[in-house]
Amino acid sequence: MKYIAMNIETSSAGIEALITSLMEVGITDVVVEDPRDFEELMDKKQSYDWDYVDEDLVASMSDVPKVTIYLEDTEENRRQIHNVEAIIENLKSAVASGLYGEAADFGTLALDVKFDDDTEWKDKWKEFFKPARISDNIVVKPTWETYDNKDGYKVIEIDPGMAFGTGTHETTSLCVKMLDKYQKESDKVLDVGCGSGILSIAAALLGAKDVLGVDIDPIAVEVAVENLELNKVNDVARAQYGDLTKGIDYKANIVVANLMADLVMMLSGDVAKHMEPNGYFISSGILVEKEEVVANHLREQGFEIVEIKEDGLWCAIVATI
Ligand code: SAH
Repeated sequence: MKYIAMNIETSSAGIEALITSLMEVGITDVVVEDPRDFEELMDKKQSYDWDYVDEDLVASMSDVPKVTIYLEDTEENRRQIHNVEAIIENLKSAVASGLYGEAADFGTLALDVKFDDDTEWKDKWKEFFKPARISDNIVVKPTWETYDNKDGYKVIEIDPGMAFGTGTHETTSLCVKMLDKYQKESDKVLDVGCGSGILSIAAALLGAKDVLGVDIDPIAVEVAVENLELNKVNDVARAQYGDLTKGIDYKANIVVANLMADLVMMLSGDVAKHMEPNGYFISSGILVEKEEVVANHLREQGFEIVEIKEDGLWCAIVATI
């Protein structure tokens, strides 16, 4: 596959504004390199056994924060290059006019566009995906790595293929942490936007008696089915095609949805119908800056907010009704 890689140099402060603007034109898959995050990650290594920081990576970190976008090289995506250029120009003027505050500095915002084919990058991410403990009880491990489970964690084996969900993205690990905290054994769990199936597997390993994953992307459903089998949880968990909860006749004690702020809000109107009394709605894919909007929306729908947990730019919201 041919692809377009757009690399934007920025500052730590510029990352969030860039990501938000990119999301507005439908670009959600970005790789963020922030040396500051990296330092935090190294701190986390102490408390969370992160295993995936290797020396080569440390050496390759530049001190300039960068946002990189990878898109398949199609006619439509080539138009996104113009959108990205426009976003950069808008941000430059917004910074110059003081919209982000007098002292705001978003770095050079220099854009570098490359066209390439995927032989190199297809497997590149695999170097960064190493076994990691992502919640009190759960370790996630790529199928191609080995893990010595001497502490007896519940280990999720995953090959995300073309689907989202390696477990190392903040939004996924936040959801796993919240499942680990709020899920009781013998709960029923509905996983809306199951991607690779990672949250369904986590729910099953945490003792759920029944799990249903749905996704609007047929490829994700295929990948999820394979991963459920790989983890031998297909006796309690299944994945099927679905658009949010449309046409789904299923009631769960926990509904987990790692989508995006707007989709979470769309889903929240219908989700109560799929929840048992005293159930929890765990949602993520929400940028911290949208946290209040989503929480208020949930309150308007009759939910009570139980917990909001942040990690970097992202948060997860746990609500009950
Ligand atoms: N649950 C996984 C994947 C999250 S990515 C994890 O936590 O890592 C979000 C997933 O939601 C994607 O797989 C996407 O295809 C799916 N999705 C997006 N819109 C959806 C919709 N309207 N209905 C169902 N799934 C949706």
